[in-house]
Amino acid sequence: MIEQKDKPSPQMRRHPPQGSYRPHGNHPQGPHIRQPAIPTGRQADQESKSQGSQVQQGPRDPNKKDMRTLQRSQRDRWMKPVVRHVRVLRETARKEQTRETGAETGGLKIVHFGGLGEVGRNMSAIQYDNEIILIDAGVRFGDEKMPGIDFIIPNASYLEGREHMVKAMFFTHGHMDHVGALPFILDKIGDPDFYAAPLTKALIMKRLDEFKDRRPVDINTINPGEEIKVSDKLTVKVLRINHSIPDDLEIIIKTPIGNVVHTSDYKFDDTPVNDKPADIGEMERMVREEGVLLLMSDSTGAEVEGHSLSEQDVTENLDKIFRESTGMLILGTFASLINRIQQIITISEKYGRKVVFNGYSMKNNVEICKKLGYLKMARDTQISMEQIDDYPRDKITVVTTGAQGEDNAGLMRIANGEHKHVRILKNDTIVFSSSVIPGNEKDVQFLKDQLYRNGAKVLNYKMLDIHAGGHGNKEDLRRMLRIMKPKFFLPIHGQYSMMINHGIMAQGEGVLQENIIIADNGSITHIEKDKWWFDREKAQSDYVFVDGLGIGDIGNVVLRDRQILAEDGMFVVIALIQHSAQGAHKLIASPDIISRGFIYLKDNKDLLMQVRKNVKHIVENQRVYEPNFAYLKDQLRNQIGLFLFQKTQRRPMILPVVIEV
Ligand SMILES: [Zn+2]
Ligand SMILES: [Zn+2]
Repeated sequence: MIEQKDKPSPQMRRHPPQGSYRPHGNHPQGPHIRQPAIPTGRQADQESKSQGSQVQQGPRDPNKKDMRTLQRSQRDRWMKPVVRHVRVLRETARKEQTRETGAETGGLKIVHFGGLGEVGRNMSAIQYDNEIILIDAGVRFGDEKMPGIDFIIPNASYLEGREHMVKAMFFTHGHMDHVGALPFILDKIGDPDFYAAPLTKALIMKRLDEFKDRRPVDINTINPGEEIKVSDKLTVKVLRINHSIPDDLEIIIKTPIGNVVHTSDYKFDDTPVNDKPADIGEMERMVREEGVLLLMSDSTGAEVEGHSLSEQDVTENLDKIFRESTGMLILGTFASLINRIQQIITISEKYGRKVVFNGYSMKNNVEICKKLGYLKMARDTQISMEQIDDYPRDKITVVTTGAQGEDNAGLMRIANGEHKHVRILKNDTIVFSSSVIPGNEKDVQFLKDQLYRNGAKVLNYKMLDIHAGGHGNKEDLRRMLRIMKPKFFLPIHGQYSMMINHGIMAQGEGVLQENIIIADNGSITHIEKDKWWFDREKAQSDYVFVDGLGIGDIGNVVLRDRQILAEDGMFVVIALIQHSAQGAHKLIASPDIISRGFIYLKDNKDLLMQVRKNVKHIVENQRVYEPNFAYLKDQLRNQIGLFLFQKTQRRPMILPVVIEV
């Protein structure tokens, strides 16, 4: 996550909604001071506070003193920023480890555009002198703090003006948090040569197909063990490693001062399903002959004890579920867990069940993998949805997306009885992943209840999780450290606590404490043969949001508005006014009020009356000699906002509409 010290973030502050609040109490007297340009962000807070003291210099009525004190305390609370999300700043960790010696140009630099201190939107740049190699470009899906945001993508602004330096881009594997952002950053990365393993390439091409207006991309196929000479100084070698999807590549960048290893998402599995074991012999040979200067390793499992489960255990567990199921078996999982899908197919075949796939991404991935031979099944195993009634229920396995309870996703539709072909009956078994993406808890609970209502058996099964099974636990991570014996270690892919714990493990495996680098997105890590530092310069690292098809046009302001709307609703005041030559405004009729998501108007007639009175008062107390609607609207917004807060303790978004007649 990024530090937001210098800029307002939607989580840190929120009101006043626009511009500053100018406190005049409920009954402002005297002339109004016209405000200069509307300040934004933090400045607005400070200014509104300093204006808070100005009000006391104005005319006052001693009888209203108590009232005023009360109002002031309420006003202060109203203006106080709401802390929604406390971001962990890394000052302490950084101070210990930083040896800033200023920005230097040449040499080896590592910059991450995403994926540090967070799970998702992975993207790394390895720069040597004036040549850059990129690894991955993934998305991170929006959460409940980001209403209407589809996903966040890496911030590749560092490449601006450096496009010509980008020589090559490699993809580790086909998961969306590693390839999903490519269509959105294509125009920012210059014209590199692209490399990906066959399945990864097919999944990227499918992804690019969804965005037809992007420029065409040619991806070179690369296979484990191959080496690409990118330039005179840089060579890249890829090695096979295991994950929940086939064709996962560890990437080794050979630079003039040593090898940089990017592990990709990985786990160690000596008997993988649907994949060959990792090239451990080759890794050891490389370490023996060339050594590893810097290891960047997946931290996702750094807080989980032990080894990741062997696929053999997973198979046995799944087998038991199949053995005990008497009706239709519906498994909700992720379309990206190709190896798990293979296991489900294999076990279904063992029990004579036909398999039907449900969900757009599930069907897509299955088709791609079948075509390339990454999913193996007998010719008659897969049936279509339409054929589902041709077989007894206990001979059918449904593999569906929507294990997280997303609206419209496959499993939800089935649970709600909205699915065209799949109905839940008594004795059916529904299995879905036990870990829930934070924010989805209620949806998943609702989903479960729906399924129970239908009389079905519901099982939680961890091995259908997106993170279980695909990422190595502590022992796997230690094994990687022991194989690589890196001089410098930079944990990647994971929350801050995971990166720190991974760093502690590295220390246990003999990496010197001062050689463990806990970086942020945007940190420019400069590495020499025997020392490292963060450059004083930082690459831009704020979030880039993708909202529908718009990229980056959703700023913090829009997001903040959405948060206000979601929490406290909105309140529209429509005032028809007449403006006289003497500078007086007159309200023509009682103002119209519309509110949504705030209070039920019919039950709050008193409050509405008072609001109308206030509006009249505000409008008719304006003494400006030309119509200044912007100012009037500000007054309405701020004073009605304060009034409603005093009455309801809520802060709806106030939308004043002033119409001159
Ligand atoms: Zn992955
Ligand atoms: Zn990942």
